[in-house]
Amino acid sequence: MAEDIHKARTAKQAQDPVCKMIIDVEKAAARIDHGDHTHYFCREECKREFEKNPKKYH
Ligand SMILES: [Zn+2]
Ligand SMILES: [Zn+2]
Repeated sequence: MAEDIHKARTAKQAQDPVCKMIIDVEKAAARIDHGDHTHYFCREECKREFEKNPKKYH
């Protein structure tokens, strides 16, 4: 019995570039497709913050 439910990694995860939170991509409140990559955000505010200054987060 060495299973750790807190480390279960079933869903794909991504880091919100604005607040640095790790989120499940399926639960992301917003996303932006940038051609070869996609950004995921925990909420609309983070997406708006990103859109104000995208270069800051690359
Ligand atoms: Zn991008
Ligand atoms: Zn966020």
